[in-house]
Amino acid sequence: MGDAVAVQFGKSSVYTGIVWRLHDTPPAKGEAKPILQVLYDKPLLSELQMRFWEWIADYYICSVGEVMRVALPSIIKAKARCEAEFEPYVPKRETTVKLVAAAFSDEVRAKMERRAPKRYEALCEIERAGGVLPRYAVELDATALKALVKAGLVEMGERDYKLDSEWSKMLLPKLSSAQAKALDDIRSGLSDKRVALLHGVTSSGKTEIYTHLIEERLARGEDVLFLVPEISLTTQLVERMRSLFGESVTVYHSKLTPQQRTKLYTDMLSSESGNFVVGARSALFLPYKKLGLVVVDEEHDSSYKQTEPNPRYNGRDAAVVLASLYDAKCVMGSATPSLESYTNYLSGKYAYALLTERYGGVEMPDIVISDTVRNVKRNERKLHFNKELLDGIADRLERNEQVILFQNRRGYSPYMECPSCGWSARCPHCNVTLSVHQQKGRMVCHYCGYNEPIVRYCPNCKTTELKAMGFGTERVEEAVSQLFPEARVLRLDGDTATSGTAYNRIIGAFARHEADILVGTQIVSKGLDFADVTLIGILNGDNLLASPDFRAEERAWQLLMQVAGRAGRRDKRGEVIIQTAEPEHSVYSLIGDYERVTTKLLAERKQFRYPPFVRMVKIMMRSSNKSLLVDSSLRFGEQLRNRFGRRVLGPVSPLIDRVRGEYRVELMLKVEVESSFSRARAILREEIAKLRSDKECRNVVIICDVDVM
Ligand SMILES: [Zn+2]
Ligand SMILES: [Zn+2]
Repeated sequence: MGDAVAVQFGKSSVYTGIVWRLHDTPPAKGEAKPILQVLYDKPLLSELQMRFWEWIADYYICSVGEVMRVALPSIIKAKARCEAEFEPYVPKRETTVKLVAAAFSDEVRAKMERRAPKRYEALCEIERAGGVLPRYAVELDATALKALVKAGLVEMGERDYKLDSEWSKMLLPKLSSAQAKALDDIRSGLSDKRVALLHGVTSSGKTEIYTHLIEERLARGEDVLFLVPEISLTTQLVERMRSLFGESVTVYHSKLTPQQRTKLYTDMLSSESGNFVVGARSALFLPYKKLGLVVVDEEHDSSYKQTEPNPRYNGRDAAVVLASLYDAKCVMGSATPSLESYTNYLSGKYAYALLTERYGGVEMPDIVISDTVRNVKRNERKLHFNKELLDGIADRLERNEQVILFQNRRGYSPYMECPSCGWSARCPHCNVTLSVHQQKGRMVCHYCGYNEPIVRYCPNCKTTELKAMGFGTERVEEAVSQLFPEARVLRLDGDTATSGTAYNRIIGAFARHEADILVGTQIVSKGLDFADVTLIGILNGDNLLASPDFRAEERAWQLLMQVAGRAGRRDKRGEVIIQTAEPEHSVYSLIGDYERVTTKLLAERKQFRYPPFVRMVKIMMRSSNKSLLVDSSLRFGEQLRNRFGRRVLGPVSPLIDRVRGEYRVELMLKVEVESSFSRARAILREEIAKLRSDKECRNVVIICDVDVM
């Protein structure tokens, strides 16, 4: 079991699949097919992995085959691959630097200490480590090292990579007393609990704490998985981890090529344990042997949830299940823990450690709420900027400090409108307006990618006075360049960071202070640290709250906290200016007060029956045939109400009720946490099967989204 095999279906299609179960019951329809070939020389899945897949399929109401598509994306193809295509596993090697003790005489020491203190210090470091260190642990550049080799002071060598706990302990960052206390709390909490929640304010040094926990596990020969919500965050983290744990750090995410992913998977399959993987949620499916620890960083981040296609799983929640299958521990970290995880701490399910001190004693930034309405009245608002923000930017430019401007919308403007008749440009395939992208000269649908040239006149009343309404990052960039022509401006959003390289180039340039202002979407709020940023401007706080989603306020608040956390450093207190037309909204007054926000939000969730007090399943139905969709959704709603009663809401049309020419309706199922969720899922599956048994309704797509974000 767990073997990948190739089977022929039809005349010419060969499919690969996984042997899931051995039995001798003949198929009800058709004939059993022979296995053409067993691929690879060993099973691809262990029993634990198979149980993990089954859990995902069961919990997220999809098929095991759909799990296979995300778990083994490159192996499942209509064309069989033979095992010979893969290279044999080669143990990882690392370059070493060995001190030639005889040459490092007292005389040489004395001379070097005076003339080349840096090289001298490096040699002493190698000596203290017992005479040899891996190359990456020696803090010298290639030229310096070459010179030392030439002088006969060191020799370069190579050895199989192994984690030597001695030197890594030596290199691990020293913890502040607050960090050490948090580490202790996590350790003792994990002695009798599976999961610990590390609640540490932004820049409090959570990563340093993780490294100590990771090192312990690797030294014991166990595997460690470090999950991050977005691929873009892996680069910085991997560099940091490699400087501590060497080349053994493996990066895994869905943007690797299929070949890279397959190679990595098979390498891990052949290796003993001791693997350290940094990756996005798909890294949960790698073949761990002795998983000891899973770290889930930024656990509140909704990017952990796969939204499209099935399995619509949450990487954070699946990580806890994976950890329990392997009897491993799980540490989640966040500056703004999700209400779900915080509730798990309050109920005693999770251990908890709090870190309130920013690393290096940096103060929390000043928060300024800037009233847009008052600015407009006083005629002080210029091109989307209130006076407070304009003054703030001018002041930072003067002092040669950096500014980040945040707007959660990309493009130039979200829609083009005719002021005389109210016509607006819409996508012909989706029920949304087309966003204007000035630099590309096109209007683009952010749902299906449809685009056309920017309209010059209204097709309805023929006026040419069309207006680009609202504003996205592109328009902010243009405005700030007009207002501050001397400033160097960069933009980071889905249009400029089109690849990992492009992303790194923009981030790198801003980090080197080659620009003064960075304009960006959400992407700028995530895990980035810039030493010279002292002002963060949020151009439109209201639009964070504008979504009808029940999580809108929690998200807005988390985002404000995360963005605010990027401002200020050791010697410079940061400032955050939030522009809003609704300055009285509690989300602003409560920034920084985690407990009060949480108490308020949890009370609302309880009253209106939302997670974490209920489990929510969104049932999406789609079809290009509108009347068929309406009929079958009404019928399905009735079916569900017969079983679940008032727990069923809908069917309703979602805000965007047509995408890519397909109509959409939604139903919502809310199940109290006290009742059996597995029973509820079983009933839901039954009812879906019942609806599907109708010939007509079979053409309606039904998708379940469990624990919808
Ligand atoms: Zn018009
Ligand atoms: Zn569209």
